[in-house]
Amino acid sequence: MDINEARKRTESYIDDHRDDIFGLLRRLIAIKSFTTIEGEAQRLIEAELQKLGLATRRIVGNREALRAHPEYNCYEMPYMQALEERPNIVGNAPGSGGGRSLVLFAHIDTVPIFAPEKWTHDPFAGGIENGRLYGRGAADDKAGVVQNLMALTALRGARIPLRGDLTFASTIEEEVGGVPGIMACILDGVQGDGAFYGHPIDTGMRQLNIANLGILTFDVHVPGFPTSPLFYVMDREEGNAIEWAAEIVLALRQLGVERRKRVSCDIYDRLYGNATCICPSVARIKGSGYYLATPEACVVTATAQYPPGEREEDVKQEISAAVERVAQGDPWLRRNPPRIVWGDIRFTPSQVPETDDIVTLSKRAIESYTGSAPIVSGIPTGSDIRFFNNYTKTPAISFGATGANFHGADEWLDMEEYLSTIKATAAFIMSWCGVG
Ligand SMILES: [Zn+2]
Repeated sequence: MDINEARKRTESYIDDHRDDIFGLLRRLIAIKSFTTIEGEAQRLIEAELQKLGLATRRIVGNREALRAHPEYNCYEMPYMQALEERPNIVGNAPGSGGGRSLVLFAHIDTVPIFAPEKWTHDPFAGGIENGRLYGRGAADDKAGVVQNLMALTALRGARIPLRGDLTFASTIEEEVGGVPGIMACILDGVQGDGAFYGHPIDTGMRQLNIANLGILTFDVHVPGFPTSPLFYVMDREEGNAIEWAAEIVLALRQLGVERRKRVSCDIYDRLYGNATCICPSVARIKGSGYYLATPEACVVTATAQYPPGEREEDVKQEISAAVERVAQGDPWLRRNPPRIVWGDIRFTPSQVPETDDIVTLSKRAIESYTGSAPIVSGIPTGSDIRFFNNYTKTPAISFGATGANFHGADEWLDMEEYLSTIKATAAFIMSWCGVG
């Protein structure tokens, strides 16, 4: 079959099934699938794959084997389901042979609702207003799951024979690291010549993502000297743990300012002007005393991101040095140095070479629907694509429709662009796998 004919047929299939597409997305939004309770939503996806006639498989990671993975994060919630109750769902669509194989993946889990009073739309109703679809997961990433599933459905519905094998995966636990999710699938044999991650982003199809940032988390434990503040004077050498913590916060901020000038990464610089998303960012300081007692200790909790090309050890070294400089400035801290504890949550950065075929073909697929070449850049945070890029030989890239308020209130998805995104995904699949 001629590729242009194949594209036309999938496009009309997608246009004719607009209601089914948004209907499925809204049904998924109505099912809560916060990380660790993904079971019910996964059963819906499994049923949809079976309706398409795909052989499906449930992949449950082996907790012990996963624990050995360098990016495993021991995440526990009081309401969490066992891994068996919330498997990764995989469907296989074998090709006719002679083409490249592709894994289509996206994550079904979402973050919880943090501030319900800030939502002006019901987070589980999938309300529509001015071309935007609202709800938890409307963008991140139920939209990605449906984007992949509907591209696959359109190809099958329009009877397009693909040469390469397609593997579809709806995965769990992306929001807390992804090891029991896509990494468990990879360990279980989910592989291909390429991998595609369906995921909306605030820049939509104006951006093609071939990289992700690394993330480090850490706590700085600052020792204190509990005493009565009534006897505390500024030149007293023991100082106050919260005040020392404040110095460390400012030192981390200064490190961020300085890194912004010094650290560059072409692929991020071209979109963001400079790699602005790589500064350490303090999330919390925790230390308590009383009106009449200075704190015993104070803990600064922070996160740092860094681009592909930088090494985790070097970034850790810079953070340690910044804390060390504060400590060196004071006799009490020199004797009672602050201690850094690196967190479980860590993401490695990754990048696909720009010259790779998967980049050229996905770029072309997007351009044919937007009319202009997307900026080839990276996801401004950690991402599941790193598991393919860093632990296998399979290059993984991502694009999606415009979405906003990820993890926040009134999360939404641009509906018109979403349909084009599904068309572009199908076009990319055809050019990668081959039509025959
Ligand atoms: Zn996501």
